Amino acid sequence: MEQVDCIIAGAGVIGLAIARALAERGLETLVLEATDAIGTETSSRNSEVIHAGLYYPQGSLKA
Ligand SMILES: Cc1cc2nc3c(=O)[nH]c(=O)nc-3n(C[C@H](O)[C@H](O)[C@H](O)COP(=O)(O)OP(=O)(O)OC[C@H]3O[C@@H](n4cnc5c(N)ncnc54)[C@H](O)[C@@H]3O)c2cc1C
Repeated sequence: MEQVDCIIAGAGVIGLAIARALAERGLETLVLEATDAIGTETSSRNSEVIHAGLYYPQGSLKA
Protein backbone atom coordinates (compact mmCIF):
# COMPACT_ATOMS: atom_id res chain seq x y z
CA MET A 1 0.00 0.00 0.00
CA GLU A 2 1.29 3.47 -0.89
CA GLN A 3 2.15 5.65 2.08
CA VAL A 4 2.24 9.44 2.46
CA ASP A 5 3.00 11.68 5.42
CA CYS A 6 -0.23 13.70 5.39
CA ILE A 7 -3.66 13.53 3.82
CA ILE A 8 -5.79 16.64 3.38
CA ALA A 9 -9.53 16.17 2.77
CA GLY A 10 -10.83 19.02 0.65
CA ALA A 11 -9.13 21.17 -1.97
CA GLY A 12 -10.59 24.54 -1.08
CA VAL A 13 -8.40 27.50 -0.21
CA ILE A 14 -7.80 26.19 3.31
CA GLY A 15 -6.92 22.64 2.32
CA LEU A 16 -4.65 23.83 -0.47
CA ALA A 17 -2.88 26.33 1.78
CA ILE A 18 -2.28 23.68 4.43
CA ALA A 19 -1.09 21.19 1.80
CA ARG A 20 1.36 23.74 0.45
CA ALA A 21 2.69 24.53 3.93
CA LEU A 22 3.19 20.83 4.66
CA ALA A 23 4.83 20.18 1.29
CA GLU A 24 7.20 23.11 1.85
CA ARG A 25 8.28 21.38 5.05
CA GLY A 26 9.18 18.32 3.01
CA LEU A 27 6.16 16.22 3.96
CA GLU A 28 4.64 14.13 1.19
CA THR A 29 1.06 15.33 1.13
CA LEU A 30 -1.98 13.92 -0.65
CA VAL A 31 -5.01 16.16 -1.24
CA LEU A 32 -8.34 14.39 -1.68
CA GLU A 33 -11.18 16.32 -3.31
CA ALA A 34 -14.77 15.11 -3.53
CA THR A 35 -15.62 17.05 -6.68
CA ASP A 36 -14.06 16.91 -10.16
CA ALA A 37 -11.79 19.94 -9.69
CA ILE A 38 -10.01 21.89 -6.97
CA GLY A 39 -11.39 25.13 -5.56
CA THR A 40 -14.87 24.80 -7.00
CA GLU A 41 -16.96 25.02 -3.82
CA THR A 42 -17.14 27.87 -1.29
CA SER A 43 -13.68 29.13 -2.22
CA SER A 44 -14.84 29.93 -5.76
CA ARG A 45 -18.01 31.72 -4.69
CA ASN A 46 -16.85 34.47 -2.41
CA SER A 47 -16.26 38.11 -3.26
CA GLU A 48 -12.55 37.44 -3.95
CA VAL A 49 -11.22 39.69 -1.23
CA ILE A 50 -9.17 37.73 1.29
CA HIS A 51 -10.35 38.62 4.80
CA ALA A 52 -7.02 38.31 6.53
CA GLY A 53 -7.29 41.24 8.87
CA LEU A 54 -6.52 43.76 6.14
CA TYR A 55 -9.55 45.93 6.96
CA TYR A 56 -8.93 46.16 10.68
CA PRO A 57 -6.69 48.47 12.72
CA GLN A 58 -3.18 47.08 13.29
CA GLY A 59 -2.85 45.48 16.68
CA SER A 60 -6.60 45.04 17.14
CA LEU A 61 -8.01 41.63 18.02
CA LYS A 62 -9.73 41.31 14.62
CA ALA A 63 -6.50 42.05 12.75
C1 LIG B 1 -21.15 34.01 0.16
C2 LIG B 1 -19.76 33.98 0.75
C3 LIG B 1 -18.90 35.05 0.54
C4 LIG B 1 -17.62 35.03 1.08
N1 LIG B 1 -16.78 36.07 0.82
C5 LIG B 1 -15.51 36.02 1.25
C6 LIG B 1 -14.57 37.03 0.90
O1 LIG B 1 -14.87 37.94 0.17
N2 LIG B 1 -13.34 36.93 1.40
C7 LIG B 1 -12.93 35.91 2.20
O2 LIG B 1 -11.77 35.90 2.59
N3 LIG B 1 -13.77 34.93 2.54
C8 LIG B 1 -15.05 34.96 2.08
N4 LIG B 1 -15.92 33.96 2.41
C9 LIG B 1 -15.41 32.88 3.23
C10 LIG B 1 -14.48 32.00 2.40
O3 LIG B 1 -14.94 31.87 1.08
C11 LIG B 1 -14.43 30.64 3.06
O4 LIG B 1 -14.10 30.77 4.43
C12 LIG B 1 -13.38 29.75 2.40
O5 LIG B 1 -13.51 29.73 0.98
C13 LIG B 1 -13.55 28.35 2.94
O6 LIG B 1 -12.54 27.57 2.36
P1 LIG B 1 -12.46 26.07 2.70
O7 LIG B 1 -11.25 25.52 1.99
O8 LIG B 1 -12.57 25.86 4.18
O9 LIG B 1 -13.82 25.45 2.13
P2 LIG B 1 -14.25 25.09 0.62
O10 LIG B 1 -13.79 26.08 -0.38
O11 LIG B 1 -15.70 24.77 0.69
O12 LIG B 1 -13.43 23.76 0.36
C14 LIG B 1 -13.77 22.53 0.95
C15 LIG B 1 -13.52 21.47 -0.08
O13 LIG B 1 -13.65 20.19 0.55
C16 LIG B 1 -14.30 19.32 -0.34
N5 LIG B 1 -14.83 18.25 0.48
C17 LIG B 1 -15.83 18.29 1.37
N6 LIG B 1 -16.00 17.11 1.96
C18 LIG B 1 -15.05 16.30 1.42
C19 LIG B 1 -14.71 14.95 1.65
N7 LIG B 1 -15.35 14.18 2.55
N8 LIG B 1 -13.68 14.41 0.93
C20 LIG B 1 -12.99 15.17 0.03
N9 LIG B 1 -13.29 16.46 -0.22
C21 LIG B 1 -14.30 17.01 0.48
C22 LIG B 1 -15.33 20.19 -1.02
O14 LIG B 1 -15.77 19.63 -2.25
C23 LIG B 1 -14.54 21.48 -1.22
O15 LIG B 1 -13.85 21.53 -2.46
C24 LIG B 1 -17.20 33.94 1.87
C25 LIG B 1 -18.06 32.86 2.07
C26 LIG B 1 -19.32 32.86 1.51
C27 LIG B 1 -20.22 31.66 1.71
